[in-house]
Amino acid sequence: MSKDYYEVLGVGKSASDDEIKKAYRKLAMKYHPDKNPGDKKAEEKFREATEAYEVLLDAQKRAAYDRFGHAAFNQQQGGAGYSGFSGGGFGGGSFVDIIDEMFGGAFTGGGGQANHAGADVRYNMDITLEEAYKGKNATVKFTTFTTCTGCKGSGGEAGSRPTNCTACHGRGKTRYQQGFFTIERACATCGGAGQTISKPCRPCNGSGRVRKEKNLEVKIPAGVEDGTRIRVTHEGEAGLRGAPAGDLYVFLNIKPHSLFKRQGPDILCKVPIQMVTATLGGEIEVPTIDGSQVSVKIPTGTQPGQQFRVKSKGMSILRATGRGDMLIEAKVETPVSLTKKQRELLEEFAQIGKDGKNSPESSGFFAKVKDLFQ
Ligand SMILES: [Zn+2]
Ligand SMILES: [Zn+2]
Repeated sequence: MSKDYYEVLGVGKSASDDEIKKAYRKLAMKYHPDKNPGDKKAEEKFREATEAYEVLLDAQKRAAYDRFGHAAFNQQQGGAGYSGFSGGGFGGGSFVDIIDEMFGGAFTGGGGQANHAGADVRYNMDITLEEAYKGKNATVKFTTFTTCTGCKGSGGEAGSRPTNCTACHGRGKTRYQQGFFTIERACATCGGAGQTISKPCRPCNGSGRVRKEKNLEVKIPAGVEDGTRIRVTHEGEAGLRGAPAGDLYVFLNIKPHSLFKRQGPDILCKVPIQMVTATLGGEIEVPTIDGSQVSVKIPTGTQPGQQFRVKSKGMSILRATGRGDMLIEAKVETPVSLTKKQRELLEEFAQIGKDGKNSPESSGFFAKVKDLFQ
């Protein structure tokens, strides 16, 4: 299986980013496929070094690798439909950066092969907490390259046939020498396709795709979280002349709610409770995320900040049938705007409770203060 990344780059476990960059640069210079055409061993070394470099230069990936070794990355695949971007898409920035720096931008990824696949598209969507709870079918509207309907993506008018490009002899790339490097670039004549079309399709100019507004229905499953990315395969930018389309990534942002705060699967709701209810106990009606209400028993002597758990009234959980809980936090409200009568009653109340037995905490606190200063 894979070799130790540190060994591949020939650096120590405590190597700095700079040392890792330097080591990779050296190996990449030596083993780059352009410098070693047809040399399978060099290609393999280049691939290994690149893989090691990508992991070790990413602080998060490096930490995971240090803890779990290669196993850290085997688990990142899977998860149908939802992607943590581990498998390409937007990632790989650092890798392309350094190669571009070294080869003057000639390297466009895909191991040096011309790449006509469409780009991934990012779409940001705001949803409410209720929508995250229930899930929804959302309409996504954006403008991107879509397959040309005139030529069905082939780029040629009906009856025209693609022929090998004469400039690059069908390779889609041209090579030239720069210093001691051979640089490959996408062929300018055929745009890298390797073929030219005798009668290019008019609406798309032979590219097989046109810019158009796209209207898509995207299913947002119940239980999504803030920052969840939903991947819709092949709904990104259309590829050139029928090449695979990119993916659409819908990034979800859950708007703050006026009553509820999500805590993972649970929902926290701070509920004002009248002083008398908190003191004597009682029952209160509390709104729930599903739009209904639930009655909650408040025990006698409820203190501010005390929490009560209402089972299964929290958030939906992604790809599961269970629900989180709802946490009711008591916000005991001190009465204001008292009438004369109320004031008198409270004063009488205070008079009777002078021994402090009704308020053990404050009595204890002031006893401590007394001890401290005497
Ligand atoms: Zn067309
Ligand atoms: Zn060409």
